[in-house]
Amino acid sequence: MVSVDEASRLIQEHLFRPGIEKVKIDEAEARVLAESVKADRDFPPFDRVAMDGIAINFQAVEEGWEGFRVEGLQQAGQSRLTLKDDKNCIEVMTGAMLPIGTDTVVRYEDVTVVNDMAKLKVKPTARGVNVHHRAQDAKRGDVILLPGTVLSPGETALLASVGWLECTVYGYPRTAIVSTGNELVDIHDRPLPHQIRRSNIYALKSALHTLGCVADLHHLPDDQNKMERDLEKFLRKYDVIVLSGGVSKGKFDFVPAALKALGVKTVFHQVSQKPGKPMFFGTTEKQLIFGLPGNPVSSFVCFYRYIRPWLLKNMGIVPDPEFGVLAAPIDLKNPDLAHFLQVKLKNENGRRMAYPVPGGGSGDFANLREVDAFLEIPQGHGPCSAEQVFPLIPFRTMI
Ligand code: AMP
Ligand code: MG
Repeated sequence: MVSVDEASRLIQEHLFRPGIEKVKIDEAEARVLAESVKADRDFPPFDRVAMDGIAINFQAVEEGWEGFRVEGLQQAGQSRLTLKDDKNCIEVMTGAMLPIGTDTVVRYEDVTVVNDMAKLKVKPTARGVNVHHRAQDAKRGDVILLPGTVLSPGETALLASVGWLECTVYGYPRTAIVSTGNELVDIHDRPLPHQIRRSNIYALKSALHTLGCVADLHHLPDDQNKMERDLEKFLRKYDVIVLSGGVSKGKFDFVPAALKALGVKTVFHQVSQKPGKPMFFGTTEKQLIFGLPGNPVSSFVCFYRYIRPWLLKNMGIVPDPEFGVLAAPIDLKNPDLAHFLQVKLKNENGRRMAYPVPGGGSGDFANLREVDAFLEIPQGHGPCSAEQVFPLIPFRTMI
């Protein structure tokens, strides 16, 4: 049996070289950029008017002028006008080029315009106000996105602004998620009284999908020969196999033996944690095999504690550790194990409070509706008092 930290370290020692692939930028959400992106022009590409109003030469204000005759109108999308008389002004709209001969914009709110005469209500405080200067944000050729950047809407805007239709992102391993168990039927089948639907492979597939990773689903009955035959096929086809169930001590938990018979090396079997103690991890020369306990909450926790960080690390991403404040005291019956406590998160004055959710055994998937995260109480803790801070594993997808 290994500790949680040991299990995590052993898994992270087995990284794969992610391939790369091109994706359209509007399908690149949550993917990880595998190339640098450079500005194809200055950001912004010209001195850009930042407010609707009038453009003037600040010198005139310094000389005491307060009224300006309106010479013309500079619209966004129009080529650049020139101010002919530097005691005059040009009306300008947000996003327009700043007219030649002007350097400062006064907002409409600070000026009255009557019959082509603009009169200042409020004097501009400095030359250049309300102008977004050329190259202020980035220069042409500057790297604006680095490999390893997770693409979210802000990055998509940058890709679009430099005219990229596609970008290169890291690929994922060919992944299979495999349920095991004679009691399981597929979700479109009607379960008999002694059967249940195989829900947790769908949860795992969905969790992978939030990272942009697709996976095939399979099922194996509790029959060692059949298991070996099918697993042999999967080992030819996939880089990563995530199995659910069949790794505990029951009479029909054949997964470790079947994998062993196929030459899979056991890296660890059993982790001192609750839930998820029976977890298995093995390797061949090229593949990784995660054997998660079948209890829905166990497989869920194990995915977020081990598989997700492992996948991200392959692409060079090590998320900052997150923490939560235990909001109510708890007493843990088995201090020899690390505990993943089901918690509801509440932000109280900027503090991330973690309220333990009652119930929530390893098989109680319904309970997860109420839960936002797991609070990781390390091994060695019996009673824990409110206000203690522990590592947190949030799993809700942000929408
Ligand atoms: P096992 O780890 O195979 O002993 O399974 C432990 C418990 O998890 C059993 O009650 C199983 O019925 C349940 N279980 C196993 N696999 C799944 C699955 N894919 N979906 C939902 N429950 C499962
Ligand atoms: Mg089973």
